[in-house]
Amino acid sequence: MQAAVRAAAAAGQGVRVVATGHSFTPVHLTDGTLLDLDNLRGVLGIDAASGRARALPGTTIGDLGDPLWEAGLALANQGDIDTQCIAGAIGTATHGSGISLTSISGWLRRCRLVTGGGDVVEIDETQPDLLAAAQVAVGMLGVMTEVEIQTVPAYRLVERIEHWSFDELIGQFDARVARHRHFSSWWCPTEQSPGLYGLTMEPGKPGADACYVKLYDEAPADLPDSATPRRRVDRSYRIYPDVFEPNFHELEYFVRYERAAEALGAMRELMLASQPDAIFPLEIRTVAADTAYLSPQYETPTLVLSVSGQPGADYWPYLRSVDRLLGGEFGARVHWGKLHFLTAEQLHERYPQAQAFIDIRRRLDPDGVFLNDHLRPLFA
Ligand SMILES: Cc1cc2nc3c(=O)[nH]c(=O)nc-3n(C[C@H](O)[C@H](O)[C@H](O)COP(=O)(O)OP(=O)(O)OC[C@H]3O[C@@H](n4cnc5c(N)ncnc54)[C@H](O)[C@@H]3O)c2cc1C
Repeated sequence: MQAAVRAAAAAGQGVRVVATGHSFTPVHLTDGTLLDLDNLRGVLGIDAASGRARALPGTTIGDLGDPLWEAGLALANQGDIDTQCIAGAIGTATHGSGISLTSISGWLRRCRLVTGGGDVVEIDETQPDLLAAAQVAVGMLGVMTEVEIQTVPAYRLVERIEHWSFDELIGQFDARVARHRHFSSWWCPTEQSPGLYGLTMEPGKPGADACYVKLYDEAPADLPDSATPRRRVDRSYRIYPDVFEPNFHELEYFVRYERAAEALGAMRELMLASQPDAIFPLEIRTVAADTAYLSPQYETPTLVLSVSGQPGADYWPYLRSVDRLLGGEFGARVHWGKLHFLTAEQLHERYPQAQAFIDIRRRLDPDGVFLNDHLRPLFA
């Protein structure tokens, strides 16, 4: 790894790492060396007492489920799929839903990196500035070769899938977000929308302008596991992942939670009133505040809004209108692994620690070996 980075740097070429390549942004692209760390996969050690787990960067979220469970532990939260690598998920602040739960980046406690000069550095909690930069680095500080994350005691989940109107969603939003471990929803603008994400709405109820709602709470110890559809009870890591057809390109923006109801109403209006391409559901989630410099949740809990376009269609006018609304009127931050239109000026306006991140990036990679055409305009 060190030799590969040094050789590329000496040849004046860039280096990027690809994990499972689930990001929709061209974060992996390089005309230099592309490192695939598929072979660096596996759990290295679990300390049940502290809840710390060490893993190689190519270990998937799904790979962590059974070994953690056997040690009496679990990941605090998970996103919609579990096939991403832990280093890729950390690198882009991949998240699930839960107002008291941070993104996966927030769990990083230590990592080993090969820097732009080919040196190996260890970053841990004794270097809070470096750790805050490394927690969401989009591969710009170096190649992660090992990570250590904080986990939580193992838990099972009770799932409830419900069918609500948009007014019910807005009316109960704050109370439900506060009450449930996981509260999320897909608001579906058209009858065709639920099918695009494989969502089964309740028969006899309208699919258009309706919400597919997911509520997950910790299962009491005396409640047995159950496979009943829409009412499953199981280990957390078996409940979280959904199954998706790869039929969408996604944009995801993060709005300060205090403006959640306003942003939800504005998105519904935009999608119904002026955007005929807006047929994929609007995914609605929340994430807790953290302290990572490039985190969308830096020092603020957020409402997360995701929309998608169909591959092959010209979805850019629609996505640009979402950017104008959420970026322009709500100052939204962006998901580094999903489509966005962020400029350098907006980066500095919306991410108070962007310059602190860039200063650390320049220290660890002074020649910009890990930048590419997508990242250079923002972070050089
Ligand atoms: C179907 C689908 C569902 C999704 N669901 C969610 C969701 O629920 N929540 C959410 O937040 N996101 C979600 N995403 C987005 C996804 O989680 C992120 O894009 C994530 O980064 C993908 O992980 P990956 O392993 O594919 O990483 P990649 O896309 O391969 O890489 C992501 C970044 O991490 C860097 N990187 C990877 N490995 C290393 C390493 N070893 N060292 C240094 N840098 C590295 C890469 O260079 C890149 O910049 C989803 C994406 C898809 C396609």
